Amino acid sequence: MPQATAYAIDSPTGRFSRTTITRRDPGPTEVLFDIAFAGICHSDIHTARGEWGPAKYPLVPGHELAGIVREVGAEVTGFAVGDRVGVGCFVDSCGECDNCRAGEEQFCDGPGSTIWTYNALGRDGLPTAGGYSTCITVEQDYLCRIPDSIPLQQAAPLLCAGITLYSPLKRWGAAPGKRVAIVGMGGLGHMGVQIAAAMGAEVAVISQTRSKEADGRRFGATEYYAVSEPGTLRSLARQFDLIVSTVSGDQNLNGLINCLKTGGALVDVGLPEHPVTLKLGGLVSQRRVLAGSQIGGIAETQEMLDFCAEHGLAAQVEVIGGEDINDAYDKVVASQVRYRFVIDTSTFTD
Ligand SMILES: [Zn+2]
Ligand SMILES: [Zn+2]
Repeated sequence: MPQATAYAIDSPTGRFSRTTITRRDPGPTEVLFDIAFAGICHSDIHTARGEWGPAKYPLVPGHELAGIVREVGAEVTGFAVGDRVGVGCFVDSCGECDNCRAGEEQFCDGPGSTIWTYNALGRDGLPTAGGYSTCITVEQDYLCRIPDSIPLQQAAPLLCAGITLYSPLKRWGAAPGKRVAIVGMGGLGHMGVQIAAAMGAEVAVISQTRSKEADGRRFGATEYYAVSEPGTLRSLARQFDLIVSTVSGDQNLNGLINCLKTGGALVDVGLPEHPVTLKLGGLVSQRRVLAGSQIGGIAETQEMLDFCAEHGLAAQVEVIGGEDINDAYDKVVASQVRYRFVIDTSTFTD
């Protein structure tokens, strides 16, 4: 069976160290691929540090994988050795429930539900292990094709950060003539600005400070606001058709709702730790919508990758080695990354 060099963590307060894990030989409909790059998503950190409940240790996180196919099963039709492929947040689902049939495998309600790329149990009953590793075996239906024009290191973060923003922007109508605000400009937000602008919307960033303003404008925003400046949200009352919030810390939800036009939608993709207080009057009085969104299905993820290629979009990344993961986690928490750390797995065998 294929052996992978991986970086694993043993406890919520542990540090990542190098180890070896075993992957499955590809079954008839499975693909084994060599992972070249894996993005570090804030979700990896929440999970590894036990902030979302007990994790299954030793844990190999990583749900933004990009690499090259090494081997395919006998019945694989969609992929061949040498293809550029990616895997996002999940590697399997029932395939038969209403959501799976609708291409929304991320909401699978079948037996076993959506099988996440790490910290879950696979169909084989073994714990899943993510992208901080040199190879992985995945069912072909859960793989995406990475367009040739997107470098693999910049493609990896699209598999979570890209689809997390693409899906709500498309569903809630980012388009020419619409005013869209992206709240927070980290790993998620910097993709949201680019994608919303490419969809033709007029894009504003609502950030904590102005420290990333030049980048925001380079990504396609025409307006940039800092909530650390008093009165910012009040000055934006009834300005936007759509606001997508990527903030996972505490935020002024009621203030943001009041920035929506009549009938506008605020879509939250962040997962704040604490409950929020919601004043329903802000929704009722202007027929506004408050919604959530979580990644996207495989077909939509492929559509997002093709959209990014067509419009020349990609993640802005800082490439690091395996030994840098611990340090990178601290920097992500401190917002000291522009805009995604991506692990180069070729450093695992140094
Ligand atoms: Zn993620
Ligand atoms: Zn299902």
